[in-house]
Amino acid sequence: MRCNDQMRRGDRVPLLHPNTLTSVTAERPPVRLRPEIAALPAYRQGRSATADGFKLSSNENAFEPLPGILDAVAAASDINRYPDAGATALREKLAPRFGVTIDEVHVGAGSVSLLSQFINAAAGPGDEVLYSWRSFEAYPGLVTVSGATSVQIPNLLDGRHDLTGMAAAVTERTRVAIVCSPNNPTGGVVAAEAFARFMAAVPSDLLVLLDEAYIEFVRDGGAVNGHALIGMYPNLVVLRTFSKAWGLAGLRLGYAVGPAHVLDAARAAAIPLSVTGPAQAAGAAALDHEAELTARVDRIVTQRNEVRAALLETGLPVLESEANFLWLPLRGDTEAAADILHSHGLETRAFAGEGIRVSIGEPESVAKLKQAAVDIVDNLPSTLQMGRID
Ligand SMILES: *Cc1c(COP(=O)(O)O)cnc(C)c1O
Repeated sequence: MRCNDQMRRGDRVPLLHPNTLTSVTAERPPVRLRPEIAALPAYRQGRSATADGFKLSSNENAFEPLPGILDAVAAASDINRYPDAGATALREKLAPRFGVTIDEVHVGAGSVSLLSQFINAAAGPGDEVLYSWRSFEAYPGLVTVSGATSVQIPNLLDGRHDLTGMAAAVTERTRVAIVCSPNNPTGGVVAAEAFARFMAAVPSDLLVLLDEAYIEFVRDGGAVNGHALIGMYPNLVVLRTFSKAWGLAGLRLGYAVGPAHVLDAARAAAIPLSVTGPAQAAGAAALDHEAELTARVDRIVTQRNEVRAALLETGLPVLESEANFLWLPLRGDTEAAADILHSHGLETRAFAGEGIRVSIGEPESVAKLKQAAVDIVDNLPSTLQMGRID
């Protein structure tokens, strides 16, 4: 029997003084873990910048928080009490923006926790979760933790989702399909028409998560926008976050809009009370400061377009982006190019053999970025050939 077995094994280990703990670890068999979890790489955070450098590795909003939002956080001072588990005040502000009831809005500690809740609510061992790849780094780990299996459909050459391929990969085991638009890290959007075809092609009982972490940066009028689709599909949940455009990454706040019974399942899969009071207050205050925040987003978009043009001018390949980052498909030169960026004080996100994602950050980072780009092209002339995808 399992229990006796463990006791007997424990009995064989002599009780040792704390100083000799290492020898205990050496003698004991390792703690039994789920092998697929033990094999998971831990979350890799973007490197912090040096004093005169810039952190362009986590798609954060480089603007400092607005004073009005900081005041709201400070006013949420009853931190000796648990927060409102339902984030009611925030949901009451969000619901009318989407023309839904508050039951059709769910708030989580970042949209990563929402992704986790929806995946756990719909998929488990033996089930499949479908998404495009390369995409958001969190997807594979979240799926593995749920016990389900990832099915990854390679991106098209322009970095966008192959939605036809994704629809064709749906089996009776598929429980969740994730569509990320704009796609992190490649920056391209899903066209509204392509998304409509995808929704028509997949079964209406398959949960589709539309991850719109960067929607506020989109200027392509033909792109899918979950807001316009609310209420149209019984199986669609739209995920948004306060971390990027809204500048609240450090407080952990995201939300989902979709059918109430699907959101109820996510609520059931959530760790209760994980959205803190200060985060809820900050989200509500941010919505009150939308005009100022939107003006900042406009500046980020302008800077994105300028940086892309400048990098293209040096000859580097840079995909079109509708987000607050750019993707340089540098393939075999990725790591060498990331080192050059690092030597210029620029921390970026490199995916070995694939490319580099550069966040649009402080305006002061742009000059360094241009210098680094020239340096890359001078030192790695093969990068000049890489942008050609046609
Ligand atoms: C940043 C990001 C998120 C959200 O992050 P949270 O900070 O957890 O809200 C979700 N999806 C994608 C694709 C992202 O890049």
